[in-house]
Amino acid sequence: MNFENKGYDSKFKELISSAFDSGRLPHAIILEGANETTRMTFAKTLAKALVCKESTNEVKPCGKCADCLKAESMSHVDIKFVEGTNKSKTVSVEDIRRVRSDAYVVPNEAERKVYIITGAHKMNETAMNAFLKVLEEPPSYVNFILECEDKAMLLQTVKSRCVAFRMGDLTDDSVTAKKLEKSYENAKLIADAISLDSEIELMKVLGLFEKDKEALKLALEEVILILRDGLSLKSGAEKCLSGNGETARKISSNMTSEKIMRAMDVVSEALSGIQYFANQNLLLARLSSRLK
Ligand SMILES: [Zn+2]
Repeated sequence: MNFENKGYDSKFKELISSAFDSGRLPHAIILEGANETTRMTFAKTLAKALVCKESTNEVKPCGKCADCLKAESMSHVDIKFVEGTNKSKTVSVEDIRRVRSDAYVVPNEAERKVYIITGAHKMNETAMNAFLKVLEEPPSYVNFILECEDKAMLLQTVKSRCVAFRMGDLTDDSVTAKKLEKSYENAKLIADAISLDSEIELMKVLGLFEKDKEALKLALEEVILILRDGLSLKSGAEKCLSGNGETARKISSNMTSEKIMRAMDVVSEALSGIQYFANQNLLLARLSSRLK
């Protein structure tokens, strides 16, 4: 599963990608926790991944096929957003009845049909009960994604027919989310430079962090995950836990296991000493020379 470089917490990513990549994603899932924007952003990515035409699960959504492009522009006919059509904007029994009859019509363009039930926690009991019928025996090509504040707000009968995935609160404020997103990009730059085994490249990249210790710290934490992915790819693993599978593959093909392990040690050491280094330049010089 391709997380499109979003700063979701690693536990959540691990759980969802192991289900998705192995083709065992349950037909009905609950996305709870974090905030509404984060849940909806991920729900859209997952829906896109489910209709994506790419053959390898690990790289879905590919972002390039016709289905991905339509999903991106919110115009894919097989991805349905179920939003409340009444005044209070809550999904009602009528909305659910429409879903029920629509679900038995086979998909138009994709292999699957995805329903994103927004604000599932606001559904009343009648709507939830109406939903049960299709949740019990859904057509094989259907996926339901219930976007929900907290699964405790759903009826037990609904909960028991779905698998809940809790998203961490990390991305709760947009500043943190932006920082995390940036750290993914920064980590990719550093890890790419490490894979090239060129001190000049590395010095150049590390130079970007001269004045920003916090950005360096966030990026290095991610670099360790990428290196770890590179190492597990070498020993035959297929999936990457970091959001940077492409770089991990580069590392795995360009570096020996010993080199990767040494790089992991050096980066962890730099991380643990980062707050004690008053002179950032010295830390960077040391890091780049030791990584060589
Ligand atoms: Zn695609």
